[in-house]
Amino acid sequence: MASKIGIIYCKRIQDQSCVGCAKCYKAVNDNAFAFEGKGDVKVVFKTSCGDCPGLVLPKLQLQMQVLEKLGETVDEIYFGTCVKKATAVMNCPMNLEGIKAKIPEMFKVLVTVGTHDY
Ligand code: SF4
Ligand code: SF4
Repeated sequence: MASKIGIIYCKRIQDQSCVGCAKCYKAVNDNAFAFEGKGDVKVVFKTSCGDCPGLVLPKLQLQMQVLEKLGETVDEIYFGTCVKKATAVMNCPMNLEGIKAKIPEMFKVLVTVGTHDY
């Protein structure tokens, strides 16, 4: 069975220095990097962190409502490599560790930070 995933990206990087999200689509489609050995992976949503300061949890609550209305589900959430870079080099104000801990608790899904090394 396909694994259904959602991707969260850094609003300051996506489509600026990482154009068109081609890198994550390639990693998913090639089963590479974070998706190695995952088999059939379907992207059911891709959304931003909501811009600084990164209020991801309320954004995800809305996203989950949308999925429910569509009769769709998600198994795993990935923070794009852009979010990892933002945390490392852009003084990202998001509480990534806190949010990472809350996501499985609130939404019963797995969470991974980083999608590829391109
Ligand atoms: S790392 Fe992935 S999610 Fe982030 S902007 Fe690049 S392709 Fe999009
Ligand atoms: S909160 Fe972090 S991930 Fe979101 S736009 Fe700001 S720097 Fe990027």
